[in-house]
Amino acid sequence: MNTENRNFPARPPPPPFSSSPFASAPPPGVVPPQSGGPEAVGFRPPARPFTPSGPHMAQPAGVMRPAGQPPLVSQLPGSRPPPPSFPSTAYGPPGGGSFHRFPTPPPSGVPPPPQTLAGHLSPPMSFRPQQPMASVTMGPPPQSMTSGIPGGFASPSGPGFQQSMPGGPQPSYPGYPSNQVLQGPPKPFQSPSQGPPSAVSSYPPQTGGFAQHPGQQNMHPSYAPPPTSNVQGLVEDFNSLSLSNIPGSLEPGFDHTSFPRPLDGDVEPSSFAEAYPMNCHSRYLRLTTNAIPNSQSLASRWHLPLGAVVCPLAEAPEGEEVPLIDFGSSGIIRCRRCRTYVNPYVTFTDSGRKWRCNICSMLNEVPGEYFSHLDATGRRMDLDQRLELTKGSVEIIAPTEYMVRPPMPPIYFFLIDVSFSATKSGMLEVATQTIKSCLDNLPGYPRTQIGFITYDSTLHFYNMKSSLSQPQMMVVSDLDDIFVPLPDDLLVNLSESRNVVEAFLDSLPLMFQNNVNVESAFGPALKAAYMVMNQLGGKLLIFQNSLPSLGVGRLKLRGDDPRVYGTDKEYTLRVAEDTFYKQMAADCTKFQIGINVYAFSDKYTDIASLGTLAKYTGGQVYYYPGFQSSIHGDKLRHELARDLTRETAWESVMRIRCGKGIRFSSYHGNFMLRSTDLLALPAVDCDKAYAMQLTLEETLLTTQTVYFQVALLYTASCGERRIRVHTAVAPVVTDLGEMYRQADTGSIVSVYTRLAIEKTLSSKLDDARNVIQQKIVKALREYRNLNAVQHRLGSRLIYPESLKFLPLYGLAIGKSTPLQGGPADASLDERCAAGFTMMALPVKKLLKLLYPSLFRVDEWLLKPSADFDDLKDVLRRLPLAAESLDSRGLYIYDDGFRLVLWFGRMLSPDIAKNLLGADFAAELSRVTLQEQENGMSKKLMRLIKKVRENDPSYHPMCFLVRQGEQPREGFLLLRHLIEDQMGGSTSYVDWVLQLHRQIQQNA
Ligand SMILES: [Zn+2]
Repeated sequence: MNTENRNFPARPPPPPFSSSPFASAPPPGVVPPQSGGPEAVGFRPPARPFTPSGPHMAQPAGVMRPAGQPPLVSQLPGSRPPPPSFPSTAYGPPGGGSFHRFPTPPPSGVPPPPQTLAGHLSPPMSFRPQQPMASVTMGPPPQSMTSGIPGGFASPSGPGFQQSMPGGPQPSYPGYPSNQVLQGPPKPFQSPSQGPPSAVSSYPPQTGGFAQHPGQQNMHPSYAPPPTSNVQGLVEDFNSLSLSNIPGSLEPGFDHTSFPRPLDGDVEPSSFAEAYPMNCHSRYLRLTTNAIPNSQSLASRWHLPLGAVVCPLAEAPEGEEVPLIDFGSSGIIRCRRCRTYVNPYVTFTDSGRKWRCNICSMLNEVPGEYFSHLDATGRRMDLDQRLELTKGSVEIIAPTEYMVRPPMPPIYFFLIDVSFSATKSGMLEVATQTIKSCLDNLPGYPRTQIGFITYDSTLHFYNMKSSLSQPQMMVVSDLDDIFVPLPDDLLVNLSESRNVVEAFLDSLPLMFQNNVNVESAFGPALKAAYMVMNQLGGKLLIFQNSLPSLGVGRLKLRGDDPRVYGTDKEYTLRVAEDTFYKQMAADCTKFQIGINVYAFSDKYTDIASLGTLAKYTGGQVYYYPGFQSSIHGDKLRHELARDLTRETAWESVMRIRCGKGIRFSSYHGNFMLRSTDLLALPAVDCDKAYAMQLTLEETLLTTQTVYFQVALLYTASCGERRIRVHTAVAPVVTDLGEMYRQADTGSIVSVYTRLAIEKTLSSKLDDARNVIQQKIVKALREYRNLNAVQHRLGSRLIYPESLKFLPLYGLAIGKSTPLQGGPADASLDERCAAGFTMMALPVKKLLKLLYPSLFRVDEWLLKPSADFDDLKDVLRRLPLAAESLDSRGLYIYDDGFRLVLWFGRMLSPDIAKNLLGADFAAELSRVTLQEQENGMSKKLMRLIKKVRENDPSYHPMCFLVRQGEQPREGFLLLRHLIEDQMGGSTSYVDWVLQLHRQIQQNA
């Protein structure tokens, strides 16, 4: 056995896939609606959100849509654009009318379709100066328009398009040498190379944090002594690793197989949940430690983050759904002073006439309608019927005072690139087919609204009025003075205009199939979409296939100067250069527009800038570098379908309250703050989580407990305004040891990951990685000092059981796509896309990405089949090291974003034949895994299906690679074996030694 992973290039040659786990598909975010009554009464003043406050902000309630022309377009007489200012290259129908309708597709070359590249190609036949818009029939474009163009592909003139023709040479990205070689091959395998296939790994099945006596280090792991064997006569409540060698020595004097590894995935702290059964489930709220320090001095010795991760809409398993509460005539019961919602921790007094707020201690009157007698123990007699008094999570139906306008309908607006690469790659076809297939399942029927704008060097609007039989297309080519034609018919009710919408989606790919326009007027298109949507808000889905090249927001190639890397300026490449993007995001959030960005280019598209739109609107970035429908089609289909059909909370705001003496001081994730503590989330869904940090405001807390309450005010797709409330309590402690015992590694890692990614936006990658390392060192040093008094610690690294995986996750954060290595290890776009994605991931998903699953499947495939419910029952996860791989085996690597099937070089040919059919000996980069007509293949496909179903938030693509196939093996798998040392990165063993050394300094 051996994987022969010698020098493989760090950067793969241009896609079909990327080395990043995000190769294709972070989920999009949700869309928010309009000014949505910031938790109205309760949340502080509706506060004019963010920056500029527009005239539409405070719409009169009751008016869903202004009857008159919206101000933004009202300067247009009728819907006819002002005559001047039209470039002479614009096309228009004969007669100069604004838009005509062509009932059926013209047989040939009738009205020139917009894709005829105004401005770049020879003068079109139907050249009509002074006509800004053309109305074009939907349908296949006249072939003569494109095929007759001399030269075929006109050479694009926009910046950044030096090489955009497919099939042509694909120069490597400036700044990203394509033949980088990672120095330092991974360490050679140490596991038995001649053993039977089953002797796969040298790791014991159970990896705890057990130390061994130095003298036992060569013992077979299965004879490892029990955990207590290293205890020196005293009962220690910490774990430790014996690191008895001299730091820096080549001979490790310890058994690294005993290092802790999270092979069971994220295990949530359970004792806490048992102690406080009325707390909300940890899927909604996880504190970094379930023991709050009672003083600032104690907090200052807790070097780990003090805070929480909140996933307000996390999916609950069947039977555990959040109950819906209607307070009816009594109105919602909230504290008069701090606006806390009534919850299981409030107490009733005065014979049931008053209740005391658990957060601020205020004594409140109980409204007559809500009154109930108390029993002898002080419990309300009606407690059994009051879910809000027994459940940590409830959803409350909000009355009209929680609305500043009628609840908005679900709105899906699509901004689609139809330029050359978008159509050529098949993106346009897959996207339109998927949208069409989801029409029945978009939330909110029959109120759902939908609309489209497409663009290349011009903008194309589509009149979808239900009375039409075919959509009507209008082309606007003046990019400097964007106006929206027919503003009332661009966003239409889906159920009324269903036929027109379907006709549109059917014909769109055909219309542009021969488009040779390579320009991208993305910025102007975005402005136009904003103008259409800002009356109502909604979800804006952007499909961008190239670098925006025309009009406002045009972007330029960045990162091609290698001298910038490693300097203090490098971070500027990871943030948006043009303020246009952040400003647009702020404007969109203000008007309840949430943006999801789908990016597809195989070349630099400045995800740093594009992603800003998603970041500040609570959205999501999906990145499919080098998209080709034959390869990435399924992934896009699944992820777009999930984006469109998952339940979405519209026009929402979120606030988290906590007891007196503490406050949340910082928030981390994709959102914008509307006031100091109100998160504006135009659209939220179950796949989004937010991290926050706490500060003690008072020197000393005098209470025994601290309460937390998350409230998300939103509009449900059904049109109901609701408040989802999660409440939890945690004890206040005086003992640092208890804080450590109650630490939650998953939550801590979530906060750290977000802090580290934020740091990469203002510092060098090295600095961001070092920050995490220093934090872990400080925390473990403090812990060591805490125990050094009573115990002889010697050369042991000690840590609490609760934090046993923290060092490994710390290493994994530094090796994750946004932070890893240097410029050669991930392209700018990959880094940025991964950063935007990881900022929003819920805890479990993030941990899986940081420490993915690796398991061996060939032996299992050979066993007589038994159906399985839980993957854990059939497959054992292995340490993420090349040592785990046996060349006679077949392994699956799964990080939640993609699957890699690794075929050992000596894998039985029968197995390969069964699984790959005739392709079994082919180079695996050319093989797609398909079900074969045999039991083994079916079994494997069932397994893969199960893996995908277990987490539908992303659709992992499946890559095949055979041992030794370089460079693919390197970038698909070996470099993600994070316990190994790879090209300058640190191995797990060295990392632990480093930490240990630093902890002992000044200990
Ligand atoms: Zn209160």
